[in-house]
Amino acid sequence: MENRLRIYNTLTRKVEQFIPNAEGKVAMYTCGPTVYHFAHIGNLRSYIMEDLLEKTLRYMGYDVKRVMNITDVGHLSSDADTGEDKMLKGAKREHKTVMEIAKFYTDAFFADCKDLNIKTPDVVEPATGCIPEFIHMIESLMEKGFAYESGGNIYFDTSKLRDYYVLSNHSEEELLVGVRDDVDEDENKRNKTDFVLWFTKSKFEDQELKWESPWGMGYPGWHIECSCISMKHLGEYMDIHCGGVDNIFPHHTNEIAQSEAYLGHKWCNYWFHVHHLNDKAGKMSKSKGEFLTVSLLKSKGYDPRVYRLFCLQSHYRKPLEFSFDALDNAGAAYDKLVKRIGSLQKGNEKEVDQEKFAAYKARFEEALGDDLNSSMALTVIYDMLKDDMSDATKYALAEDFDRVLSLDLTTAYAAKEAEANGDVDAAMESYILEKIEERKAAKKAKDFARADEIRAELLEKGIVLEDTREGVKWKRA
Ligand code: AMP
Ligand code: ZN
Repeated sequence: MENRLRIYNTLTRKVEQFIPNAEGKVAMYTCGPTVYHFAHIGNLRSYIMEDLLEKTLRYMGYDVKRVMNITDVGHLSSDADTGEDKMLKGAKREHKTVMEIAKFYTDAFFADCKDLNIKTPDVVEPATGCIPEFIHMIESLMEKGFAYESGGNIYFDTSKLRDYYVLSNHSEEELLVGVRDDVDEDENKRNKTDFVLWFTKSKFEDQELKWESPWGMGYPGWHIECSCISMKHLGEYMDIHCGGVDNIFPHHTNEIAQSEAYLGHKWCNYWFHVHHLNDKAGKMSKSKGEFLTVSLLKSKGYDPRVYRLFCLQSHYRKPLEFSFDALDNAGAAYDKLVKRIGSLQKGNEKEVDQEKFAAYKARFEEALGDDLNSSMALTVIYDMLKDDMSDATKYALAEDFDRVLSLDLTTAYAAKEAEANGDVDAAMESYILEKIEERKAAKKAKDFARADEIRAELLEKGIVLEDTREGVKWKRA
């Protein structure tokens, strides 16, 4: 299989040809949300761009298996964390248990993802579901001499590694000072960069969730969960691991340290990091009081897909500044674009100019293959709309590109119109019928991956397909 994706790899600090371990297959891992509050639109920028990466890989023909964790326990990395425990703080704020908080904000996260047309990963695993795996890995690290007990906690010994800083080019000093300004010193550590694998004693004493372990009742540290959850579902070798740039150090650095110490070989080949969304005051974060969420955007009358377009207009490796003016511009561009595409006559297959179709498809793929140049990919849409070719060709291209962009390019306008007329169900129905037809065509062409993808897309929208003797039927999930 031809490898058509070139992507920046944080590990080598270069744009590289993406070559997965197994031909045609991609093992992909994403650090999921910490579910103590709503995701802010900065977090969601990372998930939108990771969704773009996943869909680009699928578009290029790779069989992707993507795994995501949910941090419902284990968000502490050492006793140097200051302030209050985030999950406990959330529970106190809302007079709920930690598990109730986790469930509520996990559901809220996936509702946001649905609004933003972000596909749910193939596997989503909460940290509380993998305690035996964490204990097993920590026991093994102890046996191999990479971990030690001190003051009741189990720490990873970073001095045992030849190159702890593989992922970051910074000097030790810079990293230790610059990354977190809310850390005290943890006196139980042998080395400054050591981190907790398992807590039994902590200044955050009143933990609700604790488990039996060989070291006493306790709970896992933050980093161990991603190593264990990814290995549980993807095995010992991973192709690509994603997150926001703030994950590079210490989280991903520590994931590599413990995973490779445990495995005894290289673990993940490509590291994909999305730069931050900033507001005028700097990096968007939840600790700053009020923060921007998808619900807030909706309450102000913004279509969440406009925020998706806003993100796609910029490269994932550049910081992006958010403002409502900029979002308004994206909104105007979105309305114009879907209206333009909505006015195209779909036509039939014979009316599609196959040569033009292939040429634009190649340009689109080339843009994405160039380190996910999403703004260039959007330009290809404008170019093809201007070109002198049949509506059917343009429509087919818009539909094809939307497999990656997920902006509902061909359906949004009709749905908006119908909604304006109070006819939501009819619009939805026509969308479903269109997707059923598309799936039929994919099956006929033996493109079963695409057929499954369509089924999954509908499921994301709450629609289940049933293949019956009388043909395909649909119902609400
Ligand atoms: P968290 O829920 O804090 O674990 O963060 C979820 C994801 O959002 C991680 O991949 C972070 O790296 C990412 N992230 C955090 N802040 C921002 C931001 N301002 N812009 C983009 N991504 C962010
Ligand atoms: Zn992680």
